This record gives sequence, C-alpha cells and structure tokens, in this order.
Amino acid sequence: MDKCIFCAIAKGEVPGDILYEDNSVLAFRDNAPQAPTHLLVIPRRHVASAAEMDDPELWGKIMSLAVKLGHDLGLDEGYRMVINTGDHAGQTVPHLHLHLMAGRTFGWPPG
Ligand code: 5GP
Ligand code: ZN
Repeated sequence: MDKCIFCAIAKGEVPGDILYEDNSVLAFRDNAPQAPTHLLVIPRRHVASAAEMDDPELWGKIMSLAVKLGHDLGLDEGYRMVINTGDHAGQTVPHLHLHLMAGRTFGWPPG
C-alpha cells in the first residue's frame, strides 16, 4: 500500500527502532510511547486492521512474538496487549498492529 508508514518501516524506507524482524512479522518501539515499554508488533505485509486479517498462521506469529518479547524483555510484572480496530477503537494507523505495553499498571476497563 502506498504511503503506509508501517509498510515503510517494514521495508526499511523509514527508520524504526526494530527489536525483531523476520520474513513475516516485526516488532519495533512506538515513537510516542504510552508506557515505559511500548512496542508494536505487525505483519510485514500490509493488512489494514484485525478485521481484514485472513491468515490464522500469521495471527499466531504476531501473538507468539508478542508473548516471546514479554518473556525475553523480562516483563514479568505483566503487560497489556491491545489491538485497536476501526474508528471507535481509535485506530490511527491503517496497518494492523498489536500494542505491547509494560512498565506501569493499566486500568480496567480502558477508557
Ligand atoms: P493506533 O492508535 O492506530 O492503535 O496506534 C498507532 C500507534 O502508532 C500509536 O501508538 C503511534 O504512536 C504509533 N506511530 C504512529 N506513527 C509512527 C511511526 O512513524 N513510528 C513509530 N515507531 N510509531 C508510530
Ligand atoms: Zn502497511
């Protein structure tokens, strides 16, 4: 997709603080973190939102990478995973991304 910022990061056209990447998924730091640790896990190929995801294996890779990062980064006190989907959820970047946030407590229910 043209002009998708996360596609550009995935292609290396725009710098990203990338912690992990392979041929199907990558994880990088959010550039406006909402928590001491705030990562985004995305599919490498453009998928507009969770509602558009058509590949269960790729879903599994995204979720597995998020949990692995939680382990590898020692987020033993817990973390929150969020996937904003669509306007009511506040999705601002139309490329599926899982927020992995840690390092503080999070309220429930979210606002
Ligand atoms: P959303 O609101 O769509 O769930 O989350 C989008 C997230 O992407 C936000 O937390 C925002 O800070 C982050 N973001 C937007 N543009 C960029 C960018 O160019 N680089 C990085 N690393 N994060 C971005
Ligand atoms: Zn994209």
